[in-house]
Amino acid sequence: MSPHLMNTYAPAPVAFVRGEGAWLWDEDGKRYLDAISGLGVCALGHAHPAIADVISKQASTLIHTGNLFRIPWQEKLAEKLAGITQTERVFFGNSGAEAIECALKIVRAIGHEKGIDNPGVIVMEHSFHGRTMAALSATGSRKVQAGFEPLVSGFIRAPFNDVEAIETISEHSHDVTAIMLEPIQGEAGIRVPDPGYLEKLRSICDENGWMLIVDEIQSGLCRTGRWYAHQHEDVLPDILTTAKALANGLPIGACAARGAAAEALSPGRHGSTFGGNPLVSRTACTVLDLMRSEDIAGRARQSGDFMLDAFRNRLDSTPVVREIRGKGLMIGIELDAEANHLKKAALEKGVLLNITRDTVIRLLPPLIIDREQAEQIVDVVCSLVEELA
Ligand SMILES: *Cc1c(COP(=O)(O)O)cnc(C)c1O
Repeated sequence: MSPHLMNTYAPAPVAFVRGEGAWLWDEDGKRYLDAISGLGVCALGHAHPAIADVISKQASTLIHTGNLFRIPWQEKLAEKLAGITQTERVFFGNSGAEAIECALKIVRAIGHEKGIDNPGVIVMEHSFHGRTMAALSATGSRKVQAGFEPLVSGFIRAPFNDVEAIETISEHSHDVTAIMLEPIQGEAGIRVPDPGYLEKLRSICDENGWMLIVDEIQSGLCRTGRWYAHQHEDVLPDILTTAKALANGLPIGACAARGAAAEALSPGRHGSTFGGNPLVSRTACTVLDLMRSEDIAGRARQSGDFMLDAFRNRLDSTPVVREIRGKGLMIGIELDAEANHLKKAALEKGVLLNITRDTVIRLLPPLIIDREQAEQIVDVVCSLVEELA
């Protein structure tokens, strides 16, 4: 890696020069199957012709004017997102972390309106919300926080998938204004909560006058077989954050809100220079249109069911496998052993995968993978796990 790059990543020594669908090619012309999609970003695959086309059209028309003027493509995108999420208003930034910052500012503003001086937000153990100061403070990982103190205050930590813990907090804490959680925890190793968990959190929020914030930055946009993962249950969040796949690789993050949360901000209280520019907004409109017209959620559900079944059939009695979890194409295979070296071994076999929390193989393939590609990913991953056992 270049000594001129800030030392924040330890990239594998491979560089890709071209992609097509779920395939990538490196500098030597070797072909790889992408089972990570740039961390859930390229959901519609690489070099999608309709996306390339809309980017090129808009780039040669108008890229940026700033939010001092109306941006019709941003308005169109907000309308589409509001429809999909049953929210009312959307703010656009440029990343997941910025969407989280917006959500946190909204619930703090609402807390202050209610006369709470130090409004608190309940967040989960092992959660991940991003790397900016408030987002990393909300994140449930010492690794993400260590060395960057003082952290932003006002977060109350609870175990994930534990309704009683939240009830206990509600009995003892008077400054809470919101619960924020990932409907399926991503970085934590694809943790799927029990059915009904979100509905129970929703009713605790209603009883206490709290907001429910769902961080759908990884789980959203058809990844789990629905537009958004919380839609597997009968709940409406007050605030939803979305990013990663929204423009299939162009930087964008959005915070969508309804009710009081949609009205909490007013001109001058929040903003973003680049947020929601014509290029990224129009591209995101195309992404949402393609997801709808090609039933990408349905495809993710089918491919995900197929892969989860295949993994369970082949790996369930493999000693080193602790648990196989997932929904749609958000799949985690937790092992008993440290698994980081599997990334390199998979690359050698022509598959890109990711390891999270040292022991969990995480798969976030493009949602457009076909059956043959799904089989190939399953085959490579299973053979790596079997070699390990
Ligand atoms: C990736 C991610 C973020 C942070 O998004 P960035 O675009 O990297 O800032 C926040 N929350 C979840 C659940 C994520 O997966």
